[in-house]
Amino acid sequence: MKPIKISFLTALLIFTTSVNADQQWDKVGYTEAKGATDHRSMSKPGRDTIYSCQFTAMGGSLSRPWVDSDGTVYLLKKPSVKGSKTWSSNIKFDESNPNIAVTGNGLPDHPTGDFPVSSSSTAYKYDRNPNSIKEQRIVYAIPAEPKIASNPTCLPMGAIGIALSGGVFFNALDADKRDAVANEILDSCEGHPQQQGQYHYHHNSPCFDQGKEGEHSPQLGYALDGFGIYGARGESGKIITNKELDECHGHTSTAIDRLGNEINEYHYHINNEFPYTLGCFKGEVDQSMLERRPAPQGDMRGGGETRVGSSGRGRPNLSVVAKNLGISKRELMRALGPPPPNFSSAARKLGISESKLKEAMRSAGGR
Ligand SMILES: [Zn+2]
Ligand SMILES: [Zn+2]
Repeated sequence: MKPIKISFLTALLIFTTSVNADQQWDKVGYTEAKGATDHRSMSKPGRDTIYSCQFTAMGGSLSRPWVDSDGTVYLLKKPSVKGSKTWSSNIKFDESNPNIAVTGNGLPDHPTGDFPVSSSSTAYKYDRNPNSIKEQRIVYAIPAEPKIASNPTCLPMGAIGIALSGGVFFNALDADKRDAVANEILDSCEGHPQQQGQYHYHHNSPCFDQGKEGEHSPQLGYALDGFGIYGARGESGKIITNKELDECHGHTSTAIDRLGNEINEYHYHINNEFPYTLGCFKGEVDQSMLERRPAPQGDMRGGGETRVGSSGRGRPNLSVVAKNLGISKRELMRALGPPPPNFSSAARKLGISESKLKEAMRSAGGR
């Protein structure tokens, strides 16, 4: 009698769990994503990729049973970090011109999985995230009237936007410049913490308000250039494709913003095609604000070690800078010349932008 009872309960549990997951993704409108598992270029703005401040090309993919050889990610087959921890979220948008002052504690308004990932879980087999979710001190000033920049700018690691849920958006890359959605294990709200405990998303979350079926998705957050980030459905009410979006993953159309106002301006969309959120910043970004971001690092390589590349003395590790730029250390040193380095001439010699070179230096421990 007993064994039958257990197997019935187990079956019921599995059934219930999978129905819930299905239903959650039903609201989002898709259960598959078009991932990026190759070594595509990230050195300039372009559709289906990220214009990265740190990396010139993607890092391929690990072998994942939920990812097809063509890069299709089967979201329902992916294990998630279980749990139902609740948090006291606190996020405020103060619309005082010319900036929206964003303050918050970085904690989401929805339950999260239990982090660090437990060694007895399925998730642990693939991703031993050793970090705990921790409160952050979020203070951003984002433009209330964002302006399209003359040229798009690159995306750094760490927060590139803020979600209305209280968490933040990272770009679609993990620490090894791979597609984070295809490779990393997230909780059932599609978030997880990085080393400083910052809870973040790399794409859509079934825990976001997805709005009404058949209508343009509601606003889910703001990019740090001030433009809104919206869900997966465009004006037709259908899931928007990358072909309908520009190189930064946005477009100009009408939408209803978070305050209920109809806008007709540029905004980003989150959809199910890499890079999922932003591909670059379309608008002018305050570089000094980017530098002041709390916990500006992206995801760390597993095991909780210190960030690869940092010498810890405010001096960049040139081998890492060179590697991130996809060039040899000798080439980099030749371009930089004797100290103090002349970044604009070095960038010209390397055929990259000065901001990209500086960002690469910063991300490798430089100030
Ligand atoms: Zn739109
Ligand atoms: Zn992450």
